[in-house]
Amino acid sequence: MTTPVENIPFIDLAAQRRRLGAAVDRAILKVVDHGAYIMGPEVAGLEAALSKFCGAKHTISCANGTDALALVLMAKGLKPGDAVICPSFTFAATAEIVAWVGATPIFADVFDDTFNLDPTSVEAALVTARELGLKPAALISVDLFGQPADYDVIERICARENMFLLSDSAQSFGAIYRGRKVGTIGVATATSFFPAKPLGCYGDGGAVFTDDDELAEIMKSIRVHGQGADKYENVRIGMNGRLDTIQAAVLIEKLKLFPDEIEARERAARRYDAALADVAIVPARTPDTRSVWAQYTLRVDAERRDPFRDQLAKAGIPTAIYYPKPLHLQGAYAHYPVAGNGLPVSERIAAEVVSLPMHPYLEESVQDRIIAEVRRALS
Ligand SMILES: *Cc1c(COP(=O)(O)O)cnc(C)c1O
Repeated sequence: MTTPVENIPFIDLAAQRRRLGAAVDRAILKVVDHGAYIMGPEVAGLEAALSKFCGAKHTISCANGTDALALVLMAKGLKPGDAVICPSFTFAATAEIVAWVGATPIFADVFDDTFNLDPTSVEAALVTARELGLKPAALISVDLFGQPADYDVIERICARENMFLLSDSAQSFGAIYRGRKVGTIGVATATSFFPAKPLGCYGDGGAVFTDDDELAEIMKSIRVHGQGADKYENVRIGMNGRLDTIQAAVLIEKLKLFPDEIEARERAARRYDAALADVAIVPARTPDTRSVWAQYTLRVDAERRDPFRDQLAKAGIPTAIYYPKPLHLQGAYAHYPVAGNGLPVSERIAAEVVSLPMHPYLEESVQDRIIAEVRRALS
């Protein structure tokens, strides 16, 4: 007979809900009552609060993180013949929106310790683009698992090549790179408020941040079917990309707890680091950079990963694999070019990564149970 184990959640949204108390319920009900479900006052309120939080001049809220990325590429007029360099070890949306606008994603490799773009591979991707007769128009960097990419180097390459930088910060809103807040890096920054992201709503949501007045105006127009002076004038091809008022109301309340939650995530990450660095490869930190720990991701030997996960699962501890297959090996993306002769690091780490439960409400006693089980499985 085995003793039944209490299952630990991978992300504990219920604990956050208890802490928020009735505030979110009241905010939602207020919208239900006032009835401005589309572009109600909470949408503008949230945009102002987000701009204040991250320091961006303009915040354009939108329906999800994928639309946030697309708004930027559409507003910038990307087109067939343009190459966009991006990592392969990321969520599909990063490259998907490049294909939407008819441009060509060129996949670059990442570092195995931070999981973020490797500038050497970006240089190789530029060579690949030119060999294919494509114009390198943009670079999309991803702040994977909540830690900003190494922007000092990335920005230098973008400036030299006259490419614009779009920061896919879907996992890193709230993070800080060398004194610069996410939301103020690149020509524009896109984020997601999917429930499992560090700042999530109760459905789909997203936002774009930019300091560029003209770009902001174009994105606001594209968000509502390319509208002009009024909503029945259409001056460009757009989309229906608005954020629901109810989601804005939820986010206004959640943003109040967010600084505290970021601290709690950092505390949990430090406890994992200290307890696990001798049995697994813990995530590397970029100097002077604060992650928001969207995921806490270990690397273990590829052949040990499945048994490791099974043993944890038997102890009631969930784990997740982000990402089991890099995009350049996915059916939908396999025909797009890769930098140089391939992406060996992305292919290797896809077999090694494993993410542990991580959220701001991870109690020390629960985390100690996870740590003990991870150590038992790997020692
Ligand atoms: C979640 C995510 C997206 C897309 O966000 P959605 O809100 O789900 O559309 C894009 N890029 C990365 C890196 C993500 O993690």
